[in-house]
Amino acid sequence: MAHLIDGRAVAEKVYAELRGEIAALKASGRTPGLAVVLVGDNPASRAYVRSKDKMCRELGLHSVKLELPAATTQDELLARVDELNRDAAIHGILVQSPPPKQIDEAAIVRALDPRKDVDGFHPLNVAKLAMGDDSGFVPCTPLGCLRLLREAAVDLCGANAVVLGRSMIVGKPMALLLMNKGVDATVTVAHSRTRDLPQVTQRADVIIAAIGQPHFVKAEHVREGAVVIDVGINRVDDVTSERGYRLVGDVDFEAVSKKASAITPVPGGVGPMTIAMLMSNTVKACRAAARS
Ligand code: NDP
Repeated sequence: MAHLIDGRAVAEKVYAELRGEIAALKASGRTPGLAVVLVGDNPASRAYVRSKDKMCRELGLHSVKLELPAATTQDELLARVDELNRDAAIHGILVQSPPPKQIDEAAIVRALDPRKDVDGFHPLNVAKLAMGDDSGFVPCTPLGCLRLLREAAVDLCGANAVVLGRSMIVGKPMALLLMNKGVDATVTVAHSRTRDLPQVTQRADVIIAAIGQPHFVKAEHVREGAVVIDVGINRVDDVTSERGYRLVGDVDFEAVSKKASAITPVPGGVGPMTIAMLMSNTVKACRAAARS
């Protein structure tokens, strides 16, 4: 049976580290500030924004929650981003995805001050990650996955890592992080056009699954002793649950945990790390602002 990589425990460790850093920043007269902008009333987005705000408050960060109507125009949103860019009390800005369809998300991301882009989606931060320049911001979910691998003492140097998925939020930055100098994995990126996927994933020492398909990764995809990180968060119907659904990952946990040497659960794996890394990026942004 695989060792369970406990994302909640690692997130708590991150928060303990951050509390010390936040106290030091406050002692020098600076409080890290995060602004989360929500346009519209998507219930899942609303829940994400609430939990980010709650975590900021628990850590003693300055938190601004900006809730804008679903009919907000591109220009109105750009104006709010501009205000936040110029607000010295705000070190991190996040515009919750997905926005309503009248909003050009890529243009909003480009309008963010890259020094406040704690999601790591601005082209300058993407370039810094690709160049191995650690002064930028790395998207929170892949950053959290790397921290989980580090905490589980997985030897990544020279390891075969297969990333399933090539999104800008998870797959691509994950691949870049793993191949960067200092991490030194040999990386393969697979996607919906990949031929004979089980043959590709069977070679992996480490599999990162980020495809958004419930229970897609089966025992046949995984070699004995591999480490499996499950990024997926998928709703599946469950009449026994009060909500009528439950959350499952992209990995068939039941079957794969019998073959893997270590695995993350869903929930309680990557999920808690994403928000922990958002807090960490906000503190990093505040530290950088203090130096400039
Ligand atoms: P996207 O839909 O943007 O990307 C999915 C990727 O998976 C694409 O590259 C797609 O390939 C690939 N893919 C889809 N089906 C297959 C298949 N059958 N075989 C191989 N590759 C496939 O998703 P995200 O990256 O945004 O999210 C992935 C998952 O991670 C989702 O479940 C999401 O909910 C979860 N997630 C979890 C987070 C957390 O905090 N834990 C944060 C962000 C996401 P192609 O490019 O060819 O279409």
